[in-house]
Amino acid sequence: MRDVTAVELVLRSTRVITPGGMRAASVAVAAGRIAAVLPYDAGVPAGARLEDLGDDVLLPGLVDTHVHVNDPGRTEWEGFWTATRAAAAGGVTTLVDMPLNSLPPTTTVEHLRIKQAAAVDRIHVDVGFWGGALPDNLDQLRPLHDAGVFGFKAFLSPSGVAEFPELDRERLARSMARIASFGGLLIVHAEDPHHLAAAPQRGGPRYADFLASRPRRAEDAAVAHLVAEARRLDARVHVLHLSSADALPLIAEARRAGVRLTVETCPHYLTLTAEEVPDGASEFKCCPPIREAANQDLLWRALADGTIDCVVTDHSPSTADLKTDDFATAWGGISGLQLSLPAVWTAARARGHGLEDVVRWMAARTAELVGLDDRKGAIEAGRDADFAVLAPDETFTVDPAALQHRNRVTAYAGRTLYGVVRSTWLRGERVAVDGEFTEPRGRLLTRTP
Ligand SMILES: [Zn+2]
Repeated sequence: MRDVTAVELVLRSTRVITPGGMRAASVAVAAGRIAAVLPYDAGVPAGARLEDLGDDVLLPGLVDTHVHVNDPGRTEWEGFWTATRAAAAGGVTTLVDMPLNSLPPTTTVEHLRIKQAAAVDRIHVDVGFWGGALPDNLDQLRPLHDAGVFGFKAFLSPSGVAEFPELDRERLARSMARIASFGGLLIVHAEDPHHLAAAPQRGGPRYADFLASRPRRAEDAAVAHLVAEARRLDARVHVLHLSSADALPLIAEARRAGVRLTVETCPHYLTLTAEEVPDGASEFKCCPPIREAANQDLLWRALADGTIDCVVTDHSPSTADLKTDDFATAWGGISGLQLSLPAVWTAARARGHGLEDVVRWMAARTAELVGLDDRKGAIEAGRDADFAVLAPDETFTVDPAALQHRNRVTAYAGRTLYGVVRSTWLRGERVAVDGEFTEPRGRLLTRTP
């Protein structure tokens, strides 16, 4: 009789990133899960294959909880096949898809089923889904929660697509209360529409004009309102893609006071600055915008002290023709899925952080955010055998032609980054190595009930 728990694979490295830190270890894999983290020189069980990684770092596959796949409906922007290949190439083994920019958006159970059907058998990494909170789908929230979405996204200002309208304050409160009533998570694009409307809207190719049109105070006011409502309704709320460092003191104070607030930021806010964006270069356009270097320093400090929980890509591509040189009308969104690990690692190491920190921000904390920390986000017994193998001291220059994204538009073109992803493993199978991929082995994920 076959013993299904027999160790089939041992991954050995002088540098394995475990929850307790980086150390030499041998990681035993059985039935697609981590069976044990053993001493480096532990014997290899009979029948098991040894994969000796030398000094390359073994880290948990990243968990990216903010990805716009756009499939079905806008698959010319991105699709499950291409997005998950980009993820696998970049060391990301789990992604959670945003409810908008696909058609339909993920705002009813029926729509969720359409999305899942579009993804199944076409994904190279595991994929879960966020639901959407719209002005008119209040009664869909509980059914979507029960169907396994990880939470609900809402906008306070226009989303950029007509089929996903924002919530006004009254509807935000109603949705937040409903989601809190069943213990769900509300995730919010936090820019206040009144502050945006009051800001100068000059349009055109100058980045300084675009930056002025999405001021920090729009984010700060929206975050303040979310904090107040989360406190009043005892709701769990997550601030998406925080860019304004001016909101950090308020966030820190709210968290100290016990408000159930979590916060993410993105690689582009941590690695690119407003000062260096060329005029007309709308591959750098996203909302909220990339801000000044001094603002970026404060975001890093907040990551270090835990005021910001995690780093996610907000990978949000479009076709190249929508990236015009007018910042007012160009599509807003930065494609970062394949490059997020080296981009963040390059900046992190320059600021004295270790790879353990990067793993905490991009795997452990994101898995916790969506309740996948029973399965994903760390190298410890019982979790899925999802790994990235990284050569952290090797560099490469970003060549758009090497990207797996459907549209090879990138704000990182020509940059030299540290950290070459040698291979990516999903449930004990090597799914990506050197730009080659196995057939899709990803699974659809649902929230742990
Ligand atoms: Zn987004």
